[in-house]
Amino acid sequence: VSIPTDLRAERPSVSFEFFPPKDDAGEAVLMDAIRRLERARPDFVSITYGAGGSSQDRTVHVTERIARETTLTPLAHLTCVGASVAQLRNVVGQYAAVGIRNILALRGDPPRGGDGTWVAHPDGLSHADELVRLIRSLGDFTVGVAAFPDVHPESPDFEHDVEVLIRKADAGAEFAVTQMVFDASTYLRLRDAVAARRDLPITPGLMPVTNVKQIARMSELMGTPLPEAVVSRLAAVEGDPEAVRQVGVEIATELAEAMLAEGAPGLHFITMNRSTATLQVYENLGLTAAR
Ligand code: FAD
Repeated sequence: VSIPTDLRAERPSVSFEFFPPKDDAGEAVLMDAIRRLERARPDFVSITYGAGGSSQDRTVHVTERIARETTLTPLAHLTCVGASVAQLRNVVGQYAAVGIRNILALRGDPPRGGDGTWVAHPDGLSHADELVRLIRSLGDFTVGVAAFPDVHPESPDFEHDVEVLIRKADAGAEFAVTQMVFDASTYLRLRDAVAARRDLPITPGLMPVTNVKQIARMSELMGTPLPEAVVSRLAAVEGDPEAVRQVGVEIATELAEAMLAEGAPGLHFITMNRSTATLQVYENLGLTAAR
């Protein structure tokens, strides 16, 4: 089942995102979460691409395991960070060798500890649209890209972000997935601006909050503001971890309902390698019975 077919199907697609584990113990926890989420029958699952050598190897390894050991369709993330074009070709070749045909093409973030500005590898690529073109030139791949409803932190403005997505579509991207969003209106603004010019389905990224400190740190890192209503609902229960989780699930359920009511092509859940909160949202939405 290829991704664009699912994204263009009448029912919305559902997908889950994981990050590469640090070690074998983390990998066991992750594979366990993946097996529990397998029964929700998502359209695809994705593994983010690590920032450095060993975590990048782990991404490739875990993505290959999903392809080999589960019934799930993997979407492999790939970034341009620290890689020459030859190295990028090599990773794409490794994916193809185990039958992985769906790749999310990303630029990646500048390595931490530097001055925060992006520097391309001397023999590498500068922007995600170039990676889309490279992957499409290497074979029969379905390529997706990143979108930023709250405007990419390095971007001058919303209009520039729209132009970047148009460029990615013209390079051969067939769908986009957003950075995590907490406000349906920012997602809809971007979706509609792109839809007026290209046929590029944009699926919102949703993260059920299970931990207030973690979400505050992530929202700062990713440049996704937390709306006042979200902050105050979480702050009201901050001392009670179970209540935080429940409120986080409620917020994600309401947001997902709003997105689906507005015709979002799918929902992409950022799971933080855990299954419980995501499965709860999923059940609240009544998706279990529908699939
Ligand atoms: P680009 O599209 O290259 O954009 C980067 C910046 O350059 C933007 O400010 C854009 O406006 C500008 N720009 C783009 N093209 C041009 C151009 N041709 N000319 C001038 N300016 C341009 N990071 C990881 O390390 N691993 C992951 O697995 C990962 N997965 C992600 C998944 C999703 C769904 C999202 C939304 C992000 C993910 N990221 C991941 C983070 C992402 O790599 C960073 O946010 C990165 O800073 C931007 O990536 P991009 O692919 O959008 O880059």
